Amino acid sequence: MERKNAWKSYTEADLAKLEAFSAAYRAFLDAGKTERECVAESVRIAKEKGFADMSAVTSVKPGDRLYLNWMNKSIMLFVVGSEPLETGMNILGAHIDSPRIDVKQNPLYEDTDLAYLDTHYYGGIKKYQWVARPLALHGVVAKKDGSVVPVTIGEADGDPVFCISDLLPHLAQEQMKKDAAKVVEGEALDLIIGGRPLADEEKDAVKAGVLKLLQEKGIEEEDFISAELEIVPAGKARDMGLDRSMILAYGHDDRVCAYPSMRAVIDFEGTPERTLCAVLTDKEEIGSVGATGMDSMFFENAVAELCALRGEEGELALRRCLRNSRMLSSDVSAGFDPLYASAFEKKNSAYLGRGLCFNKYTGARGKSGSSDANAEYVAEIRRVMDEANVAYQFSELGRVDLGGGGTIAFCCAKYGMNVIDAGVAVLSMHAPFEIISKADLYEAYKGYCAFLK
Ligand code: MN
Ligand code: MN
Repeated sequence: MERKNAWKSYTEADLAKLEAFSAAYRAFLDAGKTERECVAESVRIAKEKGFADMSAVTSVKPGDRLYLNWMNKSIMLFVVGSEPLETGMNILGAHIDSPRIDVKQNPLYEDTDLAYLDTHYYGGIKKYQWVARPLALHGVVAKKDGSVVPVTIGEADGDPVFCISDLLPHLAQEQMKKDAAKVVEGEALDLIIGGRPLADEEKDAVKAGVLKLLQEKGIEEEDFISAELEIVPAGKARDMGLDRSMILAYGHDDRVCAYPSMRAVIDFEGTPERTLCAVLTDKEEIGSVGATGMDSMFFENAVAELCALRGEEGELALRRCLRNSRMLSSDVSAGFDPLYASAFEKKNSAYLGRGLCFNKYTGARGKSGSSDANAEYVAEIRRVMDEANVAYQFSELGRVDLGGGGTIAFCCAKYGMNVIDAGVAVLSMHAPFEIISKADLYEAYKGYCAFLK
């Protein structure tokens, strides 16, 4: 059944709200190009809207608004409901890490009068897309004295940028015959960061020049060992198309779901019946592993703490809370691309402009790795979305047996709660710049708000 394009039904008032929300989202993208920056920006916005640090409170009551920062890489927001926690929460989850290129732990070297940072890419990228374009360096350098030096180079007007070089076409006859996975190899993704030798140095004089600049910022070569430096495309999120109907930006996957999820909880006014939660998590792009990934216990631990603060002690209260919760696990979906139509099955594809996109299941090779949502829950979701007049569509990632992907849904489904994948359709997913429709962003926000109620 074909769904209608959301743009067709908008009034002038709808369009004004859509543009305001899109502008706020673009600002969030520009402020948050890494998971750490997204957490910092979320904390800033939450505090502004009256959310308190949960780690600093001793008890909670209905209506309280709380955030919990986990290792500066994941964050949870709660609005405490009037019902006991063991009746379950309404949870919106999404991830805030994005595909990128990370700097290695022993990265700095010089080769033929150029200084480089050696790298290891993060998440599933087409490596050839990341060469010959302006890149920025974002992250932190943690020093032995306990201080953490933030790094952002390549975004402000007047900042230098960085680049990974590519071979000129004139000499690329052999390269162009390789398959695309090998055209640019992983070890060829090293970042040029300097080219001017120090006059009084004999050996590695360019590297010495780079080290001198770093030392002026209080950073020694050894400090790279305890640094997390992420190489991301330089530049801001931009409106796209003559009609400005789209946004071109780095990191839509999955901030285009994380931002409206966070905003839906933050914008909720008053005291809900069920407790509301937004969880924005790290490490989804590499399998939700690690202490800040959704498969870690950090979320369960936080809910246990909340139960205790609410006076609902004990293992059983926690188990009931998790079991009785319902969740929208939000992640981007592959938007149907007419230029690559054969990768999709048209009846079950997500289309730009047709609203919030639900995936009953994800996975690959016979739904493997998916958390297939229950039909009864899907029916409830349809009712909620229809009652709130949200434009939405149901889709699969692409043609059967062409590939596949996972999300954080399985991590929460293991508690026995109802979970369904929801999100926004993206073109050029995992590319340095990805494309979304403003209508889908806006309908996602409307859908999340409806789900919380
Ligand atoms: Mn994703
Ligand atoms: Mn992804």
